[in-house]
Amino acid sequence: MNAIRNTSSIIFAIAAAGCSLAPPPLIPWNDGSVGRVNGGALFHGAELAPLPSTLEWYRQNERHWAIPRFTRAIARAAGIVLRERGGAPLVIGDLSSQFGGRISGHASHRSGRDADILYYVTTPQGVPIRNPGFFAFGPDGLASSGAGYLRFDVAREWRFIKALIEDPEARIQWIFISAPLRAHLLNYAFAKREPIDILYRAAMVLHQPGRPALPHDDHIHVRTECAVDELSTGCQPTGPWREWFGEMPEPEIAVADVD
Ligand SMILES: [Zn+2]
Repeated sequence: MNAIRNTSSIIFAIAAAGCSLAPPPLIPWNDGSVGRVNGGALFHGAELAPLPSTLEWYRQNERHWAIPRFTRAIARAAGIVLRERGGAPLVIGDLSSQFGGRISGHASHRSGRDADILYYVTTPQGVPIRNPGFFAFGPDGLASSGAGYLRFDVAREWRFIKALIEDPEARIQWIFISAPLRAHLLNYAFAKREPIDILYRAAMVLHQPGRPALPHDDHIHVRTECAVDELSTGCQPTGPWREWFGEMPEPEIAVADVD
């Protein structure tokens, strides 16, 4: 029994050291999100399916796959927004392809832990509408779509983000978004007197990444961190490990002990 445990620990340690593209045939118990977000693969993923009135795909393509708990959490959060606030469906961009790996236009999105999601938007008069595309929103919360202006729907966007960061299955590590829109969301949440732990989580995960990454002023990019049991099936954490995930387990055998 001990021998089996030690063997899997050794394999985990080797995998953690960088053999991230190794598919299940070489390490048969690898499953789910295998490797890193920018160098991994996906096994037994789930497709985030459109849901009437709740979720739509921006493009009809094969890029709506992720680990199942992540697709469930996104659908749940969109369902909460619809139930509590009504309005038009959430529009989903690229997740990963069915078996992960590189997809054009993205450095990450390779192991079923990333999702690009368009903002909830309204008309300038405040009527919720389906977001028609990737249009850049300025600090005033407005974007020009060519056919007119769109307004960032801070109330529904906040409800969606709150639902995600409260959801233990979602394990939200990052929500990339431009700094001005982040400020609008946090300002709104403070004004609503949201619980301090929710404000803290939101302040930690909402982030405009530095160059060369895009500012994320036309969509959010949501990333889930590995769950503890996923570490032993090949998921490689990319950090930071958020404290509300619980303790990060150490591999039982250090890499230096393997050889
Ligand atoms: Zn993305």
